[in-house]
Amino acid sequence: AAVFDPHDPLGIEDLLSPEDIAVRDTVRRWAADRVLPHIAQWYEAGELPGVRELARELGAIGALGMQLSGYGCAGASAVQYGLACLELEAADSGIRSLVSVQGSLAMYAIHRFGSEEQKQQWLPAMAAGETIGCFGLTEPDHGSDPAGMRTYAKRDGGDWVLTGRKMWITNGSVAGVAVVWARTDDGIRGFVVPTDSPGLSAPEIRHKWSLRASVTSELVLDEVRLPADAVLPEVTGLRGPLSCLSHARYGIVWGSMGAARTSFETALDYARTREQFGKPIGGFQLTQAKLADMAVELHKGILLAHHLGRRMDAGSLRPEQVSFGKLNNVREAIEICRTARTILGANGISLEYPVMRHATNLESVLTYEGTVEMHQLVLGKALTGLDAFR
Ligand code: FAD
Repeated sequence: AAVFDPHDPLGIEDLLSPEDIAVRDTVRRWAADRVLPHIAQWYEAGELPGVRELARELGAIGALGMQLSGYGCAGASAVQYGLACLELEAADSGIRSLVSVQGSLAMYAIHRFGSEEQKQQWLPAMAAGETIGCFGLTEPDHGSDPAGMRTYAKRDGGDWVLTGRKMWITNGSVAGVAVVWARTDDGIRGFVVPTDSPGLSAPEIRHKWSLRASVTSELVLDEVRLPADAVLPEVTGLRGPLSCLSHARYGIVWGSMGAARTSFETALDYARTREQFGKPIGGFQLTQAKLADMAVELHKGILLAHHLGRRMDAGSLRPEQVSFGKLNNVREAIEICRTARTILGANGISLEYPVMRHATNLESVLTYEGTVEMHQLVLGKALTGLDAFR
């Protein structure tokens, strides 16, 4: 008979093919080797030193634009991409953010909506991690409601001239290329902007208490002049950025469970060894109730991610289903981390343990890629047929 595995109580491993397992293990080993030994120090310092080297290594293991095909991308399945996100975020949400923005936002936008020339120019270098990308949608006054964006691209002869400000842009200060969404006379369009373009600057946003090992920046566009062919030709309107976001959110459905897994496993280990009142705290019913509830939500969440991954691979995944997954998994992941923190007692607040770092990272994950409330509204609308956004 099958044995009960405390790390995989539902036997989810049986759903994976040997190739899936190989992808997962490659990413897990890379993170164990390159991220885990340093992450607490990076987090405390509030920086991601060697980000360019990390990006090249992630390129070398095929993790950048993993699910895209051609142009040096790995052509992996949705499930494999998800497993990679989970393993990266089990190390730190900041590393997973770097990979999500590179592959699912910047590269995906160019791959899906770009011209053949744009794809040839940018994708191979981005897949290799030689060029880092960022994705500028959010503005200081327009977050959940990007339709009101003010960044504007006006035509000047054959050129485009971009002016505006983007805020909270992951990878901004280290990017070689920015996909920037801007209003034009014909609706919202995407632009591929080399970050050495005159008039573009990307000051880093400091003093974050979350995603401290991730570069977050402002993008200031002051009459940035671009050639006519800088526009992404294949899409007009918010459908463009929203479909990129749906792709990235899918990775978060998996990734958030990585942060939760690390916190759960840390709490489980701790509960087995830490003794109070003469026995391991894991032997008390109240601690067991916490561990049982955490395990239930963790593995339900991973199962949900698998289900969505299979739908994505079959071409039948709906954006509302991605909202379902993002809403549930990030909300449960943060709850798991907070509960894990209580099991660790005072040690729970220390950077010596990964739990509080994951919990505070997830505060960003809860907000970016559509806040909890936006996904509730997406589902609410899909359930009732009534739009409650405005
Ligand atoms: P707001 O939209 O002002 O929302 C504030 C609160 O009001 C939220 O709780 C929201 O849910 C609620 N709210 C708003 N409207 C409604 C409504 N109709 N009904 C009920 N409640 C409502 N953006 C990018 O473009 N690129 C990036 O790479 C990127 N990286 C990020 C990295 C980090 C670390 C962070 C924190 C953010 C990042 N973002 C990025 C921005 C992120 O996507 C936005 O923060 C997010 O969309 C929310 O926008 P906002 O912060 O302006 O909040």
